[in-house]
Amino acid sequence: MEDCVFCKIVNGDIPSAKVYEDDTVLAFKDLDPQAPTHLLVIPKQHVRSLAEIDASNSAVVAHIAEVIAKLAKDLDLKDGFRVVSNCGDSAGQSVKHLHFHLLAGREFTWPAG
Ligand code: AMP
Ligand code: ZN
Repeated sequence: MEDCVFCKIVNGDIPSAKVYEDDTVLAFKDLDPQAPTHLLVIPKQHVRSLAEIDASNSAVVAHIAEVIAKLAKDLDLKDGFRVVSNCGDSAGQSVKHLHFHLLAGREFTWPAG
């Protein structure tokens, strides 16, 4: 996707602070962190959001869950962490490439912030 900022990160056209990479998934630091740890975990394949997940492409979401669990272990997030995927405009999705925010290192409130 030509105008997708996360596809550009996957392709190396714009830089990112990568913390994990394999054949299908990339994790990098959010530019505007909302917590001491704030990573974005994305499929390398362009998928707009969770609303486009079906049986043909859901395997990467399962794999992302495994990557998040590994990152939580490797980064020693034993006090807890939050995973968020904003889906669509009213949820505040600003980048239309599926991504999971992995946030940790502070207390979180629910349902906001
Ligand atoms: P969302 O608002 O849920 O779509 O999240 C998009 C996230 O991407 C925001 O938290 C932004 O700070 C982050 N972001 C946008 N561009 C970049 C970039 N080039 N590198 C890292 N994070 C980015
Ligand atoms: Zn993309």
